[in-house]
Order: sequence, then structure tokens, then C-alpha cells
Amino acid sequence: MTSSSGPGGRHERLAAGLADPGRAELFSLTLRFGPVTRSQLAAWTGLDASTVTRSLRPLIDDDYLRESGTPGAGRGRPVQALSVNPGRHVAIGIKVGPSTVSGVLTDLRATVLNRCSRALSSTEPAIALAAVGEVVDELLATSGSDRPDVLGVGVGLSGHIEPQTGTCRLSAILGWRDVPVRRALSDLLDLPVVVENDANTLALAEHWFGRGRGVRTFAVVTLGVGIGCGLVLGDRLHTGVRGTGGELGHLPLDPQGRWCTCGARGCLEAMAGDAAICELSGCASVTEAMDVASNGRGDAAVRAREAFRSAGDALGRGLAGLCNLIDPELVIIAGESSPAFSLMEDSTRESFAVHGFSGIAGEVRIEVDTAQEDLWTRGAASLAIRAGVGQLS
Ligand SMILES: [Zn+2]
Repeated sequence: MTSSSGPGGRHERLAAGLADPGRAELFSLTLRFGPVTRSQLAAWTGLDASTVTRSLRPLIDDDYLRESGTPGAGRGRPVQALSVNPGRHVAIGIKVGPSTVSGVLTDLRATVLNRCSRALSSTEPAIALAAVGEVVDELLATSGSDRPDVLGVGVGLSGHIEPQTGTCRLSAILGWRDVPVRRALSDLLDLPVVVENDANTLALAEHWFGRGRGVRTFAVVTLGVGIGCGLVLGDRLHTGVRGTGGELGHLPLDPQGRWCTCGARGCLEAMAGDAAICELSGCASVTEAMDVASNGRGDAAVRAREAFRSAGDALGRGLAGLCNLIDPELVIIAGESSPAFSLMEDSTRESFAVHGFSGIAGEVRIEVDTAQEDLWTRGAASLAIRAGVGQLS
């Protein structure tokens, strides 16, 4: 990036490199799977080798891609493999939560270089969005990056995000309705902004850089205050027509069940979310309930174990509903309360086995990702990276 590039220059420069959809696809494949050879790229895209070589030349000249020699498969010259220069741009990922705005600055591979957060005095949109501006400014100041270096800002939040506009139609956790998040932040930050449901950003991060790399159909299910879900179907993040795709948390399981934050009764979230576990166990937090269930004695321990069994039973029925619909290869359990899955797992697998069609419960891989640090913010940064390199899936 030249020092003379302003915000307009950033777009022109990216456009020169990645505006061509075929070139953008080759770049994103190299980003996700590199180092790769030209012949691998040709095989994956169906392009001939000379087209691949010609398409990639400007990206090598512009230092988006770098070549390295790797030993060939047999005799002859080393094969030149291509890798993305991860420091060519930075991206910013932001998570807006009910009490905190958190942010990270990452390289192009979503490796976190810097992080920052601000406590929120209120979830009032004006206050929360102003805090996003402060977090972005601090991330840039402390990393020595300028706005032209930034590929974009990805923002993840809980709720219904309209994909076409980046407007938050509804977020029960934040108490928001019809907040034009993308428009407001684009004006405030003077950077490209993408907004998405937070569970969808996790699915994207897993698909591009994590356990879902190379997996065509999978789901990420998050446990916590809400039960979130992001879907990758046929190698594409599925958000649905209106942005409510993958709302597993509001799968109706029991018409007489607990009231849910969405206003309905008996949703999965109302039966397996943190509030249900706390209420059933009589504990103040899921962490306390885990401790009582694992180390406690007497009635309190029985009650805590029963709370996790009940939540796991509901989760298993939810997973059966999900897997009967989309038939995934993999389900990744993540989120703040994912460490509690070990206490729910037996009952989850039992009810999944009862309700999963045609023995599917025995075949879907379930992996648990208990990582907490940078989980949501890194997901949001992946969103900015995907959009910035011209990819929609
Ligand atoms: Zn609900």
C-alpha cells in the first residue's frame, strides 16, 4: 500500500487486484488452503494452468501472493507453491455484547495481532456504536496501522441481521429493533463495514480458518445465554433470505415449556440456554452449576446434574431436528458454555439417537471447541476478510 492511498485509493487498489471474480476466487483458495501449487488451483477451479498463471501474476507483482519452492513429487525442479502474504492488509473484528464491545485487529489469516475492549454503560445503540468507534481507533493507534491498511471491519452481534442492509432487525439480548448498524458505522468509521449474526461469523471463521476447512456441510452450535447456530451448506454460509437462517435456538420443542426471550414458549434456547440451567440447578451461573454437579454432594449435586441432563436432552432433540434437515458431516459445539457440554453429552447423544433419522446420530461427527479468547471477535474479522477479498460465501 502506498502512503498516498486514501480511503478511495484502498478501494481502487483492491479493485485492481481482486475485482475480477476469478482472480478473487484463486486468491481466497490460496488464503484458505495455502501453500498451494498452480496445478492444485487449476484442478479445484477447472481453469487451465496457463489461465491460473496469468490471473495470479498481478497478485504476485503486488505482493498479495508469494512464491516458495517445495520439493517436487519426484524428479525434476522444485514445484513453486503460492502463499498469501498475511501482512498485506489487516482486518478488524468487533463483537457487540450486552455489557462490552470487544475488538481485534488481525492479519489476512485472522491471526490476532492486537485486541481492545470497552465496557458499555448501556446497550443504547448510540452508546454502543460510539464505543465501536473508540475500539477501532484504539486498535489502529496501538498497532500503528492506518485506515488504508484496513481491509474492512466485521461486526458480529446476536439477533436477526438483514443481509442486504446490515440492519439489526431484532436483538433480544441487546434490546435493539431496526438499528441500521452498517450504515451508522460506515459513516462513523470511514471504512468498509460488514455486519452479521455472531453465530454466523463463527461458522465462517471455522469454514475459512478452522475445523470446517474443506468441510462442505456443517453447523456451529453455540451454548450460552442464547443457543446460536451458523450453517455452512454446500460450501456456502447460509444466512437465509431474511437473515434468520439457522435460528436453531428458537426451534419449538415444547408448547408448554418455559418462556423464551423471543416471546414464544418452549424454544430450545429456553430449555438449554444458561437461564434454564441456572433455574433448574438453583445456581447463580453455569460455572457454579458445573462445579456443584462435578464436586458437590447431596441434593444440590443431584439437582445440578439433573439440570444438565435436562438441557442435554433438549439439545439432542435440537440437534436431531437440525441434522434431519441438513444432514451435515460435522457439528461444532462452541460458545461461552461449551465447557458444560461434557456434563450434557450423554443425554444429548441419547435424545439425538432417538430422534435422529436413519441412524444419523451415529454418523454425524460432533466436535467441541471450548476456546473462549477472541472467539467472537476473530469470527467477525473473518467476515471482514471474506468481504474484503471479494467472496460472498
Ligand atoms: Zn425463542
